[in-house]
Amino acid sequence: MKKWNNGTSFIHAGAEPDPSTGAIMTPIYQTSTYVQTAPGEHKGYEYARTQNPTRTALQNALAVIENGKYALSFASGMAATDAVARLLQPGDEVIVTNDLYGGTYRIFTKVYAGYGIRFHFINMQNADDIKKYINDKTRMIWVETPTNPLLNIVDIAAVAAIGKAHKLLTVVDNTFASPYLQNPLDDGADIVLHSATKYLGGHSDVVHGAVILNDAALEEKLRFYQNSCGAVPGPHDCWLVLRGIKTLHVRMQRHCENGEVIANYLRNHPKVARVYWPGFTDHPNHEIAKKQMRAFGGMISFTLKDDNLGKAIEVLSKTQLFALAESLGGVESLIGHPASMTHASIPREERMANGLADSLIRLSVGIEDANDLIADLQQAIG
Ligand SMILES: *Cc1c(COP(=O)(O)O)cnc(C)c1O
Repeated sequence: MKKWNNGTSFIHAGAEPDPSTGAIMTPIYQTSTYVQTAPGEHKGYEYARTQNPTRTALQNALAVIENGKYALSFASGMAATDAVARLLQPGDEVIVTNDLYGGTYRIFTKVYAGYGIRFHFINMQNADDIKKYINDKTRMIWVETPTNPLLNIVDIAAVAAIGKAHKLLTVVDNTFASPYLQNPLDDGADIVLHSATKYLGGHSDVVHGAVILNDAALEEKLRFYQNSCGAVPGPHDCWLVLRGIKTLHVRMQRHCENGEVIANYLRNHPKVARVYWPGFTDHPNHEIAKKQMRAFGGMISFTLKDDNLGKAIEVLSKTQLFALAESLGGVESLIGHPASMTHASIPREERMANGLADSLIRLSVGIEDANDLIADLQQAIG
């Protein structure tokens, strides 16, 4: 396993006492513009779509916790995805993890495909399979790991090495793992993307996105899109994410502990057919998970032996602590049904081909007392 990140950095990353008052927590700079002393004479802040001190503090923190040089904040994870996709030109091709966030599938197939960009959705568990899809039009490899909702693991270092050899950009959506569990830039990725709505914010109270990277020229392009296209977050949202990051390491520790307990509980449950969790030693990609992650997280999917939609829906409607909701990564536990919720925008045939069964249930294990979570699942599964 990788060494644990230094927890201190999550608290102090990018934080400076506020220069005007010494406030220890960066204030919410709720302003749209900044007064200039003479035309063009200002303190680096002109207009709040372009810069905001609360956003700057958050971006500095995001760069530190992903071991990157630069970070850019966006109004949502999808706005961050949109900014990265703008690096593409008509005619370009992208190779994408097939088992991925439904909204990412949707923006690629329903928005960017219409601009003449071609996407190949493939299983990346064997990184070498990517090579079959590389041609002179390929520009980017888009990775999600652990994958959503089947919790497969893609070998980031192996994929990034293929990307480098063919001069392709490797982008990793690190939402599921969070910077606490893995840092894709260290493994050779060019761009790391987050829906900070999930673990980074951590309290189910904000929608936010981020991009972190090391390359100055790429950063300049993405910063240009951030400002020109304008999908920027408000200062209050930036402040919520900044506050969330301060407890990321403590929350993640508990998410991982609870995840392990619940994964093992489900695995021994007589009515459960299969449990998807990368911490199991017989998980097909367990060795890769051990190599690139620090622990295995609190995201778990499972199917029932009585494999029908009705039974799955019965379980979903019976849980009381696990709230039936889209999203993940908050302190409270959530339960979801990918086929009808997060992944409804992926055609059924494609879902089935990727192993995403109708009866698959996904858990985002929160940081409640594990015994209470187990009791809730027990009464729901029966
Ligand atoms: C939620 C999510 C997104 C989209 O983020 P929003 O903040 O909802 O726009 C992208 N990727 C993954 C893996 C997600 O879970």
